[in-house]
Amino acid sequence: MAVKALKGFKDIVPGEVETWQFIEATARDILHRFGCSEIKVPILEKTKLFKRSIGETTDIVEKEMYTFSDRNGSSLTMRPEGTAPVLRAYIENGLHAAKPIQKLYTIGPMFRHERPQKGRLRQFHQISVEVLGTDLPRVDAELMAMAALILQELGLSASLEINSLGCPSCRPDFNKALLDFIGTIDDLCDDCLRRRQTNPLRVLDCKSANCQAHYRNAPSILDHLCPACADHFSAVKKGLDLLAVPYAVNPFMVRGLDYYTRTTFELLTTDLGAQSTVGAGGRYDGLVAQLGGPAVPGIGFAMGMERLALLLEEQGDGLPEPELDLFIAAIGPPAQDEAFRMSHALRSLGLSVAMDHQDRSLKNQMKQAGRAQARFTLILGDAELEKGEAILRNMASHDQIAVALGGELSAWSLALADKLFD
Ligand code: ATP
Ligand code: MG
Repeated sequence: MAVKALKGFKDIVPGEVETWQFIEATARDILHRFGCSEIKVPILEKTKLFKRSIGETTDIVEKEMYTFSDRNGSSLTMRPEGTAPVLRAYIENGLHAAKPIQKLYTIGPMFRHERPQKGRLRQFHQISVEVLGTDLPRVDAELMAMAALILQELGLSASLEINSLGCPSCRPDFNKALLDFIGTIDDLCDDCLRRRQTNPLRVLDCKSANCQAHYRNAPSILDHLCPACADHFSAVKKGLDLLAVPYAVNPFMVRGLDYYTRTTFELLTTDLGAQSTVGAGGRYDGLVAQLGGPAVPGIGFAMGMERLALLLEEQGDGLPEPELDLFIAAIGPPAQDEAFRMSHALRSLGLSVAMDHQDRSLKNQMKQAGRAQARFTLILGDAELEKGEAILRNMASHDQIAVALGGELSAWSLALADKLFD
């Protein structure tokens, strides 16, 4: 029996990959406009990196990580998210010394052992961005505006929800109010009963509908912010207003990672059913120091590329088919030798060129050219070789012209390229 891919791991095949390339190209273009630089980091890290950053009692660390011992017995983890590895790299490479404000992005696969379903995989891909070295509220607003612009230029609509989770000085006061409130509920799910002991804030992130119904009456963290955090949040909202980015405040959004402080946000769509969050992020001012780096603040977000691709597919506008510049229809071995050499020379000049190597009929080869969406076809057989002239056919207008053969191949190729781009 043929070996299949793992459950929750997917190939992205031609026909789909064009959507992915479009997403990536659009995102990169916008990220560069905002001054972000790409950083590529490993997929495998020491397990303690994620335990220390994401938090021991989060769903990701408790239930979702691909963790194993390597041949030396070290505990390793396939990265479940991008922030921790990028921050580790930032510290390890002294990037804070190179530039006071670093805007870094990375695009690649993440791994979480979740129940696979639509828009939820075990290997999925994120575009993730980190801005390190400043806690100015305008930076938060600009980052959210940038995330919204990526969705907009992809042609997708999403709504932005924001919240503030305060800082270590306002959190205890809120935790107490939340625990008092939770104490009044008698049918909490088992997960929430456990979270109540380990990490009270986490209950608000519970996926159970029953718990969520209760939490609609929970105290709002926004009523428990210290003055500095309240001012920061007001300034973030003002920044969004200045940039005319629409948003809604959702005081119950907590996010599934422990490291968040102050601003958190989510980009939601109504088009994907349960898996409606296409992007999410927030501020993590203590995290760099917690990972052994300098005390610099930071903020970041990640977008899920599977969900973006699904939305684009469902929207169904379709991407333009890749075009072929030239198909060379060669009949007979001598013409094929010639076409083989021409193809390579033209490709070296930057053209996309295809030919048939199986000596099929002219009719069949013209069909292939049509299927491949070739703009031009060059027709070349024994008669053309003898005459020293091939036929160049414009596939859209059906115009045909004669093209002289012979001379040095590179000069001939340049002349032909000129004709194709006339
Ligand atoms: P969810 O609530 O959907 O589980 P999350 O809070 O775990 O999301 P983050 O860790 O913030 O998600 O990751 C940011 C984005 O990455 C999500 O908004 C989503 O688009 C995407 N994402 C997260 N987990 C998966 C997954 N298993 N499969 C596909 N995309 C995912
Ligand atoms: Mg999740």
